[in-house]
Amino acid sequence: MAKNDELLHQEARSLASPSRIKYFDLVIAQGNGALLTDADGKEYIDLLASASSTNTGHCHPTVVQAITQQAQKLIQYTPAYFANPIAAKLSTRLTKLAPITRPVKLAWGNSGSDANDAIIKFARAYTGRQYIVTFTGAYHGSTYGSLTASGVSLNMTRKLGPLLPGIIKVPYPDPWQKAPHETTEQFVNRMFEAFKLPFETYLPPDEVACILIEPIQGDGGIIKAPTKYLQKVYEFAHEHKILFAVDEVNQGMGRTGKWWSIQQFGLEPDLMSVGKSLASGLPLSAVIGRAEIMEALKAPAHVFTTAGNPLTAAAALATIEVIEKEDLLHRSRKLGRSALTFFQQAQAKYDFIGDVRMYGLNGGIDIVDPKTKKPSTEIATKIIHRTFELGVIMISLRGNILRFQPPLVITTAQLDRAFTILDQVFSEEAAQKL
Ligand code: PLP
Repeated sequence: MAKNDELLHQEARSLASPSRIKYFDLVIAQGNGALLTDADGKEYIDLLASASSTNTGHCHPTVVQAITQQAQKLIQYTPAYFANPIAAKLSTRLTKLAPITRPVKLAWGNSGSDANDAIIKFARAYTGRQYIVTFTGAYHGSTYGSLTASGVSLNMTRKLGPLLPGIIKVPYPDPWQKAPHETTEQFVNRMFEAFKLPFETYLPPDEVACILIEPIQGDGGIIKAPTKYLQKVYEFAHEHKILFAVDEVNQGMGRTGKWWSIQQFGLEPDLMSVGKSLASGLPLSAVIGRAEIMEALKAPAHVFTTAGNPLTAAAALATIEVIEKEDLLHRSRKLGRSALTFFQQAQAKYDFIGDVRMYGLNGGIDIVDPKTKKPSTEIATKIIHRTFELGVIMISLRGNILRFQPPLVITTAQLDRAFTILDQVFSEEAAQKL
């Protein structure tokens, strides 16, 4: 038996199935930049970046060195009781990077999920209001608050009720909902009417604490809300003194070609959550917000034993340094443009490619049935499996959307090689050979 299979077989005896979304039988043993090696020594190009949590690539030397040096000094002393120099430095750095011009403070967490729970906590505490408005198709995480705020899969809530009370969902302006005859303006107006409906019928705006949105949905399919739509939501929030909170866990840290995806819209949030690539994938997250909101709770309302520990903080400082020194924001935009060209050319050639979206090195490619133009999970699944066989790791979202989020340090040679393989797979599908 190959080592991969043997390890998976062994693990299956102890790992509970809800904690793994099954794509391929793969055991990742090593990583370097955008390359991965499995337990049998086979090499892959990574187009997933560990779910957008390794934007600086696998085992970036600067990050490795920072972790190694910090591990020799202090791995952990709970930040719940005492400060550590490295997290103190990071908090200053991060509050300066936040896209908020007013005084800003933050609180640490261990995951994107708890950072989004924190948004709910701080928003409720500051406003004294109970309701939270979130969007269909959103993924905010796996803890009770953030899973209730999510709206992407029934498996996330089945058997788990009652969910956190007071969370109301409105439709995300997904382009699939745009009627063929509609202009973007008409679509935006229609979606904004749908957004306002609960507020006009059963949800008093003055009882709503915050609106939490992914300005570009990640797991929902790499879908960008129209700028005009988000502006209207933002204005509505301010008119009613509702906090405007953004989830930057997936799309932040340079993924879209700016530090934060909300900067693509020129809007300033009151609160935001950050995680994943913050510490190059080590467990560190943060909720960052206007200082007065972040002071609305008293300790120990939001402490975790390990959140903001020195090791993860060292990784985060090094991550920020790499993004700046290697100009990864620019790289994300530049490589994103080549990727857009590649996928648009593929779309012109292959009738099963329905829509191509790319925001930085960050794309969603819809695979559809060539006849009906409806989402095709069947074709997308064949594509990702064949791509995997040929040494490229790419998964699908919502069944039919190819998720394209390589590490931002991927080389142009690696990217070209991935495109050559993808084109081969697309042409095999077109020739009905898959
Ligand atoms: N928010 C968004 C937008 C995400 O994509 C994710 C994870 O995929 C989360 C929150 C949850 O983060 P974590 O898995 O670190 O809890």
